[in-house]
Amino acid sequence: MSILEEVLSSNDAYVDSFGDKGQLAMPPARGFAILTCMDARLDPAKYAGLSEGDAHVIRNAGGRASDDAIRSLVISYKLLGTKEWFVIHHRDCGMELFTDDVIRGLLASSLETAEIGADGFTDVGAGPGSREGDYIDWLTIADQAASVTEDVRRIKAHPLVPSGIPVYGYIYDVATGRLIEVPEATEVGRAG
Ligand SMILES: [Zn+2]
Repeated sequence: MSILEEVLSSNDAYVDSFGDKGQLAMPPARGFAILTCMDARLDPAKYAGLSEGDAHVIRNAGGRASDDAIRSLVISYKLLGTKEWFVIHHRDCGMELFTDDVIRGLLASSLETAEIGADGFTDVGAGPGSREGDYIDWLTIADQAASVTEDVRRIKAHPLVPSGIPVYGYIYDVATGRLIEVPEATEVGRAG
């Protein structure tokens, strides 16, 4: 089966067991939101115990507090009533493996998938690439605890975020499934 066929087949099975979830309300029933990484090893529904309708989950590369992530968080509280937020980065994140300069160089070389080796990423594709990557802030990560704290701080300081929303900072351990608190992030994330 192709990927498309596999997904549609899985969806058929989901529809068969969908039950009464069509009655769920749009606002998250448990009133919170999680900002986390898109890494395929992370399943917020499982690591945080979510069912359909429970919470907002906003995902991007790194789980970073980008302008677009903040756009979603603002909608999450302002229109849909969430009252507590989590920023969850994780160990062994791919965002630790390159810098802005590295990905910009790879994209300028070609638009094919790069290879990773002991010395980092190498471009092996046929060109042309594009220099458009020069205009994107890739929000790479050098230190997980620092990135969680930085993102919690940015969210808390944002003029569209009310001071009463606590923002919790955690690192997910991909080796054990455990959420590990980042105390400095907790400190800056307290409800004011
Ligand atoms: Zn990641």
